[in-house]
Amino acid sequence: MIPYFYTNDSHHKSTSGTLYVIATPIGNLADISARAIDLLRHASLIAAEDTRHSQRLLNRYNIQSRCIPYHEHSEEKTAQTVIKVLQNGKDVALISDAGTPLISDPGYRLVQAVQAQQIPVSPVPGPSALAAALSVSGLPTDAFLFLGFLPSKSAARTERLERYQNAPHTLVFYEAPHRLLACLEDMATVFGVQRVAVIARELTKQYETVVRDQLGALVEKVRVDHNQQRGECVVLVSGKVAESVSEAELNRVLLPLLDELPLKQAVALAARITGEKKNAVYSAALAIKAG
Ligand code: SAM
Repeated sequence: MIPYFYTNDSHHKSTSGTLYVIATPIGNLADISARAIDLLRHASLIAAEDTRHSQRLLNRYNIQSRCIPYHEHSEEKTAQTVIKVLQNGKDVALISDAGTPLISDPGYRLVQAVQAQQIPVSPVPGPSALAAALSVSGLPTDAFLFLGFLPSKSAARTERLERYQNAPHTLVFYEAPHRLLACLEDMATVFGVQRVAVIARELTKQYETVVRDQLGALVEKVRVDHNQQRGECVVLVSGKVAESVSEAELNRVLLPLLDELPLKQAVALAARITGEKKNAVYSAALAIKAG
């Protein structure tokens, strides 16, 4: 990858324009920043994933900048057009159909191509279904894994889920409504019916719904209520909670080790074997020694 440096510091101002990567609403058209509207109005060019789709937003805010389509099939050609405009000192905006461009949306190659010319790329943050869903899921958000869209076929999907079966982090997936039930069924098989999960559906829209339950119960809810299979959704699965070993299991491992080894070594080995914390193993060892 080519090294790249960009700073907004006025002492290092570039003579080229800036590519602004602009987040747009994920449903409610009011969810757009004043800065985003201003930059879209003043951009010489807007590269939009689907120009017809974005027109509703642009009309709402009376944005009349020239719009060109930017999607995976036209990436290279559009990148050349965008770079020419930027090299002429004009600003360009990149938007997707909803949310933050590049988050399971096109734009990665364009950003790379523009940066390869040492042209500034600047973010205009705003909505993303990922952050919106996490913020209301009630699941831990200190560490999470965003895994985007799962494969559409069950075998490949199951294989992908198995990779993350033991991850302790909250897992976040984007899913298409017609695949939601099959996806939840595979999740219940891989993670177990008791694992807690959340469906965050139609966020910021009229039928916004957030359902949290165990995977087994979620599968049933979605199976009987067809409305849950409509609209856009994010599926979040709670991370695997480390199980602490039972007292009996710890003693079974510790007893023979304590017979053969000094206490410190026996504790260290038992902690490695069981995955239990050393403090807990040490206390158990002392209890055994004390009879
Ligand atoms: N770039 C977008 C973002 O930042 O959220 C995501 C684009 S991705 C192609 C579209 C997926 O995002 C949908 O299939 C759905 O999983 C999720 N999504 C988008 N809007 C949503 C909404 N209003 N409520 C729930 N999920 C949504």
